[in-house]
Amino acid sequence: MKITINGGHFPGHDSGAVGRTGVQEADINRDIMLKVADFLRAVSFDVREVQVSALRHIIDASKEFESDLFVSIHCNGSYDADAQGTETFCYALGGESEKLAACIQQQVITHLGTVDRGVKTGNFYVLRMSECPAVLVETAFITNENDEALLADEVKRDEFAAAIARGITDYLSI
Ligand SMILES: [Zn+2]
Repeated sequence: MKITINGGHFPGHDSGAVGRTGVQEADINRDIMLKVADFLRAVSFDVREVQVSALRHIIDASKEFESDLFVSIHCNGSYDADAQGTETFCYALGGESEKLAACIQQQVITHLGTVDRGVKTGNFYVLRMSECPAVLVETAFITNENDEALLADEVKRDEFAAAIARGITDYLSI
């Protein structure tokens, strides 16, 4: 079982969303990506981490690796500081990607206590172009005070990563 984990954006080039205290999405995504990969390797999955600026290169790397699953990790951002919670995207409902998204979403909201914004469809390049089941997890809103505090906390990032990894193993054991 080969799994590509993508940390969204790229530190130093594309920060992604930025929190009120200056926390940058790309850095958070990177840390969670590395932690998810560690959890999955600990249970013997073959994992590749990919964090690059160009979306095309993310998909090229996933294809070259011959991934069975693709998971992209992001933090959400909004001009509305009250917007908060977790949502997980798939390109279309009714397939394996939706099942994977539902497993990850359930684990994150259960273990982090974030607001459940549900599984949604999203026309994201990395989901549209993936040749294997693919999801994009918006862990929490970096622009919301409560969510940003979670994302800025190393222990909580570990819990986000564990929840995402468990969501993947839940999906595989269905
Ligand atoms: Zn992002």
